[in-house]
Amino acid sequence: ATGNKKETHKANFEIGLPGAKIGEVVTRFPPEPSGYLHIGHAKAAILNQYFAQEYKGKLIIRFDDTNPSKEKTEFQDSILEDLELLGIKGDRVTYSSDYFQEMYDLCVKLIKEGKAYCDDTPTERMREERMDGIASARRDRSVEENLKIFTQDMKNGTEEGLKNCVRAKIDYEAPNKTLRDPVIYRCNLTPHHRTGSAWKIYPTYDFCVPIVDALEGVTHALRTIEYRDRNAQYDWMLNALELRKVHIWDFARVNFVRTLLSKRKLQWMVDKDLVSNWDDPRFPTVRGVRRRGMTVEGLRNFVLSQGPSRNVINLEWNLIWAFNKKIIDPVAPRHTAVVNPVKLHIEGAPGTPDVQVKPKHKKNPAVGEKKVIYYSDVLLDQDDADMVEEGEEVTLMDWGNVIITKKNADGSLSGKLHLEGDFKKTKLKLTWLADTKDKVNVDLVDFDHLITKDKLEEGEDFADYLTPQTEFHVAAVADLNVKDMKKGDIIQFERKGYYRLDSVASEDQPYVFFAIPDGKSVNKY
Ligand code: ATP
Ligand code: MG
Ligand code: MG
Repeated sequence: ATGNKKETHKANFEIGLPGAKIGEVVTRFPPEPSGYLHIGHAKAAILNQYFAQEYKGKLIIRFDDTNPSKEKTEFQDSILEDLELLGIKGDRVTYSSDYFQEMYDLCVKLIKEGKAYCDDTPTERMREERMDGIASARRDRSVEENLKIFTQDMKNGTEEGLKNCVRAKIDYEAPNKTLRDPVIYRCNLTPHHRTGSAWKIYPTYDFCVPIVDALEGVTHALRTIEYRDRNAQYDWMLNALELRKVHIWDFARVNFVRTLLSKRKLQWMVDKDLVSNWDDPRFPTVRGVRRRGMTVEGLRNFVLSQGPSRNVINLEWNLIWAFNKKIIDPVAPRHTAVVNPVKLHIEGAPGTPDVQVKPKHKKNPAVGEKKVIYYSDVLLDQDDADMVEEGEEVTLMDWGNVIITKKNADGSLSGKLHLEGDFKKTKLKLTWLADTKDKVNVDLVDFDHLITKDKLEEGEDFADYLTPQTEFHVAAVADLNVKDMKKGDIIQFERKGYYRLDSVASEDQPYVFFAIPDGKSVNKY
């Protein structure tokens, strides 16, 4: 524990859900297990949880697993772990696939009532007909024919079945194109990660979501705003099937500049080895940003500050990192690292290493103590040493002033300790590290965005805008206290920035630190 009070953000919005009653609200977060959770999903999950709590209602975590070609148990498990990490626990965890029988029965019901038909129009042609508002040649098939195709051919995945899909018979000319007889069932012979080969037909998103929402007692379905055109279709399904009404409530997707938030595109990058895996620090996944040094509190505060705004904007990453900085700055231990070390010999300083105990964080003693070694031979950053002039008085931070007496031919410096000197009068305040065998080798890693363009326009292929180099390593030496750190610890290297320890040293590798953006600038190293 760190004496410092955690800053928890109160949501800065006050929006009521329509028709919401305290104690009766049920929301749901419906991820498809087709990838790892990204920060867009985190926003949806946190908002759903927020409303469930605000109205003392319930939150359902529902795996929307109706497309076996994209879904895997690995993704399902990782999503549950990541939600837990975010402090999101549903009152129930459910699966759309648990309702395959109900959805099948409801599709049969629609067919029997003449509200759905089987269609074997080739995909391309069907697309054109929908665009042009033309009725399918199969629209008036008889109920008997439709029933036979659905319950026998499609259900068994026969050759004839595979050519067909089921479409809701809504309105092929509707101005809202989502109402132009949407597909509600398709054949797929790929085994499903939960139901195996029990089914060879799967409901589409458009058919599944309203049904499962109604069956599970969801009162408010939060959806991102691009689905707005489909709201009429959602309502049509509920009416046609005589199911309970659900309120739809839209909010804006979150997008970030130079960032892809699509599982399909992220999977492509994993497959192409552009990143190490789904937890790569350059990835906008929950795991990726955590590995980069994002805290759960920082992420939550960011989401709640955004609120359920309906403006879709392309956010700067600095915004979210600034929330994180507020969380880490008061508690991150201060350490020292030196890049391209230059030796400074200080006359008047201890000739043998003098180890003293100092606070890890000057403003927050609860963070603990560290060892600082005072010694006549210290190391400075090359960049700092370059700026020093002969005869100049400089301040070694948390020690005192030194007069630089000579810049030697070998690049090293000589100086004289001048503890009476006034640090207010020096221009340069330098970080320094005793040059003893206790210093440790570290690798400071910084990253760039994977994409070169702030916002990709419609029709632009992200593969044409990949940043050539996105990972940068700098070797440095750091203070001995680094040896006490655990993987995942967050610190500040003074005058350099915040870092998260990604791996401790091994025989052939130094301590690896990832730079944590601080919301202002790019990190220096
Ligand atoms: P992706 O394109 O990454 O696969 P998706 O919307 O298809 O995203 P789902 O797993 O179906 O992924 O999404 C689960 C929930 O998260 C949905 O309610 C969806 O609206 C929401 N969501 C997805 N992306 C974002 C985003 N960028 N901002 C806010 N909410 C999002
Ligand atoms: Mg989806
Ligand atoms: Mg998607």
